Amino acid sequence: MRIIKYPHPTLRHKSKPLRRVDSELKKTVREMFDSMYEQTGIGLAANQIDLPYRFFVMNIESNPEAEHQEFVFINPVIQKQSGSEEGEEGCLSLPEVYAPVRRSAKILISAYDLAGEEIHLELSGLFARAAQHEYDHLDGVLFIDRLGPSALASVKDELSELQSQFAAEQQRGMIPDDQQIAARLAELETLRT
Ligand code: ZN
Repeated sequence: MRIIKYPHPTLRHKSKPLRRVDSELKKTVREMFDSMYEQTGIGLAANQIDLPYRFFVMNIESNPEAEHQEFVFINPVIQKQSGSEEGEEGCLSLPEVYAPVRRSAKILISAYDLAGEEIHLELSGLFARAAQHEYDHLDGVLFIDRLGPSALASVKDELSELQSQFAAEQQRGMIPDDQQIAARLAELETLRT
């Protein structure tokens, strides 16, 4: 499973809710956790593996042994948010880029889990931050979109480097062109949303 990198267009896609939880989704979720652990991430959204669906996985310990910390959020909705806190963030789709982001300190989020059951969680601290970061992905929003001018300036070089890498890979045909990417997302949406 390949994690796509900025500025891949799927990272800007506003995802659609999934119609149902099925065995294909369960398999994808397992692979997402595995890829996430491989790169010591604490969260991974469907956009980041080039899928146009509203779900993400999280384990804030990034530890496969800490299974009780594995959470899957399918068709999540943030119901309430309160407070405000700044904290450093990074993203598996933006390697080497780290910057402080202001987020709500507490959120109430509801979603479906892999059993198809509705879950309601009140989150704070890193858990709340990571969930808001992943939730943003589903709307095509990246943490760099939430940076102030000086934080953004401090990661400018890393972003241009990622842009050049992406352009080069697309030119060499390692990544499909933007039109092909959009056509594939549209087809996947018809299938499952
Ligand atoms: Zn991310």
